[in-house]
Amino acid sequence: MLWKVPEPADALQVRFWGVRGSVCASGQRFSEFGGHTPCVEVRCGTRLFIVDAGTGLTALGAHLGAEAPREIDILFSHLHLDHIGGLPFFKPALLGGRIIRTHCGNLDGACAKGPLDRVFAPPVFPVRLDQLPSRFEHHGFRAGETLRFADGTCVETQPLPHPDGATGYRFTHGGRAVCYISDIEHGEPWPPDDLVHFVRGADLVIYDGMFSEEEYCGCRGWGHSTWQKGVALCRAAEARALAIFHLHPAHDDACLRAQEAELKRLMPSAFVAREGQCLEWPATVGQAA
Ligand SMILES: [Zn+2]
Ligand SMILES: [Zn+2]
Repeated sequence: MLWKVPEPADALQVRFWGVRGSVCASGQRFSEFGGHTPCVEVRCGTRLFIVDAGTGLTALGAHLGAEAPREIDILFSHLHLDHIGGLPFFKPALLGGRIIRTHCGNLDGACAKGPLDRVFAPPVFPVRLDQLPSRFEHHGFRAGETLRFADGTCVETQPLPHPDGATGYRFTHGGRAVCYISDIEHGEPWPPDDLVHFVRGADLVIYDGMFSEEEYCGCRGWGHSTWQKGVALCRAAEARALAIFHLHPAHDDACLRAQEAELKRLMPSAFVAREGQCLEWPATVGQAA
């Protein structure tokens, strides 16, 4: 096995294209944190993963344009509308010449094809995904399994408590790790050992902090968590940073800035995710070549 010296192309990168939960937000009061629903670009070196296909996927697609890879992997946390709405507007799907693979882990091993074909079909939507110029391939797995891709890349997964279930992801590259934990409703006791183990030592945990603890009391059972529970999870797991994600559509910039100030008092490296924000972790170890 050969080892090469780490270089910038070996960095682990995250870019937020949509951070809003449940439904889009729009208007001047939402311009700092953004209004698109969940979509996160994760780059393991040059290898692209897309987590969730909310309306943020349209902005990512416009950014990728003709430079989009020939094969694209979209990992779904689950299939609620705020996580799939961008799919038929994804430019690489419209340009053609691509294979777009979806991966879904919350349907007992079944793939997303059935549910997606029910949503993206007349009379709810005028076009079916298989009528788009690029080809879709849908893969199912059971959350908890490790995804192994043809190029040797592996992504770990974790089942999350949410209505209809959801899947968390852990991306590791060059000795760095980023976890995507959305959508999730916390339970008691908190945090649970399996989730602490899953995010242990991560450089970043992206966490469903839709509510504050005070707001949560009236929203129990809706499938979401609080930013305070995100801090507790990261502390227990010794994670280095926390991005609060799946932001409430009624929380405007002023509200989120105040929330972020409170958040930073508990965990200085934590922040509220902003649409367009890009983070990068240079490799700490060489990659097997
Ligand atoms: Zn959601
Ligand atoms: Zn959901």
